[in-house]
Amino acid sequence: DTFDSMGLQENLLRGIYAYGFEKPSAIQQRGIVPFCRGLDVIQQAQSGTGKTATFCSGILQQLDYNLLECQALVLAPTRELAQQIEKVMRALGDYLGVKVHACVGGTSVREDQRILSSGVHVVVGTPGRVFDMLRRQSLRPDHIKMFVLDEADEMLSRGFKDQIYDIFQLLPAKVQVGVFSATMPPEALEITRKFMNKPVRILV
Ligand code: AMP
Repeated sequence: DTFDSMGLQENLLRGIYAYGFEKPSAIQQRGIVPFCRGLDVIQQAQSGTGKTATFCSGILQQLDYNLLECQALVLAPTRELAQQIEKVMRALGDYLGVKVHACVGGTSVREDQRILSSGVHVVVGTPGRVFDMLRRQSLRPDHIKMFVLDEADEMLSRGFKDQIYDIFQLLPAKVQVGVFSATMPPEALEITRKFMNKPVRILV
């Protein structure tokens, strides 16, 4: 299997190859295409498997670049991970002109508000700051069509369950959901039952 055979946009392929990837990893071979078709996907995968590029590619493929509104929201358990995802998204989407912002705690709220009001396609963040931005209406959920929970088990073990639920309540009803998790404890299964519609399950 190759990245070329996935039906991805030319400018996304350029970003993938420029980033240095030559061949898709196992999770990418199985996960990118269903995500790009708009399906809900549960991917049980450890970090190190290439999960970040899986959901970044799926998001970048589906964004409307003529619409400078937040269309995809990615939640991660730590600031560092959110910022790492932001970098990968920006690099893979370089030739598409994607605008990405990381909303994480410990940074200036004003600066987040300034960047969000200037317009972004994708927000990556930790649940607390993202909920804060939604609550202040600095982040408008109306155009969000993709929602990814990265390291869902880790977010739950850090006590983010209520915030994840609160955020989900504010999103449009037919949002596409991707859940990435190394393990599937009962609380993670509950999330998949409550938020997802006929999810495709991929175990790598
Ligand atoms: P992740 O599981 O997303 O944390 O990725 C783990 C590491 O694998 C990162 O350093 C990625 O840059 C790298 N990686 C992901 N996909 C590929 C690929 N298709 N080819 C080579 N390296 C990759």
